[in-house]
Amino acid sequence: MQRIADTTPIHLDTPKVLLVEDSTFFATIVQRKIEKRLGFQVDWKKAYAEATAAIDCYKDSYMVALLGLNLPDAPHGEIIQYATKKCIPSIIFTAEIDNDFRSNLLTWSVVDYVLKDSASCVDTLINIIRRIHKNSAIKTLVVDDSRPMRKAITRLLETQRFQVLSATNGKEALRVLSENPDIKLIVTDYDMPEMDGFELIDTLRKTHSKNDLAIIGMSASGDPLLSAQLIKSGADDFVPKPFQVEEFHCRVGHSIEMLENIALIRDLSYKDPLTRLHNRRYFFENADTFIQKAIAKGQKVSVAMLDIDFFKKVNDTYGHDGGDIVLQKISALIQSTFSKDAITCRFGGEEFCVLHTHTVEDNVFERFDALRQAIEATTILIDGHTIQVTISTGISSESEPIASMLKLADSRLYTAKETGRNRVVGRPPAANIRD
Ligand code: GH3
Ligand code: MG
Ligand code: MG
Repeated sequence: MQRIADTTPIHLDTPKVLLVEDSTFFATIVQRKIEKRLGFQVDWKKAYAEATAAIDCYKDSYMVALLGLNLPDAPHGEIIQYATKKCIPSIIFTAEIDNDFRSNLLTWSVVDYVLKDSASCVDTLINIIRRIHKNSAIKTLVVDDSRPMRKAITRLLETQRFQVLSATNGKEALRVLSENPDIKLIVTDYDMPEMDGFELIDTLRKTHSKNDLAIIGMSASGDPLLSAQLIKSGADDFVPKPFQVEEFHCRVGHSIEMLENIALIRDLSYKDPLTRLHNRRYFFENADTFIQKAIAKGQKVSVAMLDIDFFKKVNDTYGHDGGDIVLQKISALIQSTFSKDAITCRFGGEEFCVLHTHTVEDNVFERFDALRQAIEATTILIDGHTIQVTISTGISSESEPIASMLKLADSRLYTAKETGRNRVVGRPPAANIRD
């Protein structure tokens, strides 16, 4: 076969999509939308010969292939077999589909197919590509005592680009999960030795809520009550064996999207959109547990209130947008200083709160004074002007309920403002005032 050289430069960090389609009209729309909406690089080939040459050269660099079914030099979907044999996740688009073709597609282990039957089909295509791209960062676990079934489900999940781990029974699954706490989806059989799916789900739900871990139960048992029992014990969904591959992919997709939607809602309700710091709501919902955990570990807890000095002047001089840049910069500095063992939040306006753990020997005053100095030394660029701001800080290290700690830190912040700003006030106030 003649090899057609491709001189397109490959940017290693930009995902690359292979598009194989002879219709210039359709391909142009698809290419433009992918580049504009996903920022991915599209390598468009019009015919089988060109496409296979590109696959031979660049197969490892394609994140996904979008394959038209009828090409002028390969009218029977030959390109699909070629791409899937080289393990390139492939999405097929076609004008029509019948049941035979559908089941063939599944044996070729394609990601999905899209019908070119409406204006929205390109959006559907984009959503599938986006999903595939996200999947590669998601860890899943397949639990089944049957080796062939484990392999088959693993292959299906890998076709969707998930990372896949496996276990042969519930006990092993718990071990794998403890070693890989970032697993997001578990697909588990019911009937297994040592620990069955029912006991596994029951055990998992004591420590992992549906907001953090999705579980899909599976079983070959014909018991009609089993699906309801597994779902009631904590599974999100159930797939009976044998199953339709298309249905399996849909159910997996729904479970993962549910987790992502919950994460999005959490993010919207707990994070400040301007600074990306946690907000007040997050602080008050988590502070007590944070303190209790620290005390249980024998650690000390301090709370600090921080406020930018004369911030109104920044707004008055550089406008609200200029003020926002300052808020973002100061937030990033506070966050990076207290990234571990702390709840760092924007309390409101230009006021921040840091609740953090430390040892008895740690000098909390010095830590906040170092932050104060770092902020004072930082230049911030606004519309070509460089500006500097300072902060005042009040610290409370006395172990009291969080409300009392905040009150004390706030009154010390007030003292810091009253005694000249750009300073930290802790306990005892007189000894800690910097001057
Ligand atoms: P002090 O040193 O006493 O703290 O003085 P200050 O000027 O920093 O404090 P003041 O409370 O008088 O002003 C705070 C200003 O912060 C007023 C408000 O308009 C502004 N502000 C609050 N939220 C935002 C925001 O999200 N973006 C911007 N740009 N400004 C904000
Ligand atoms: Mg079994
Ligand atoms: Mg202020």
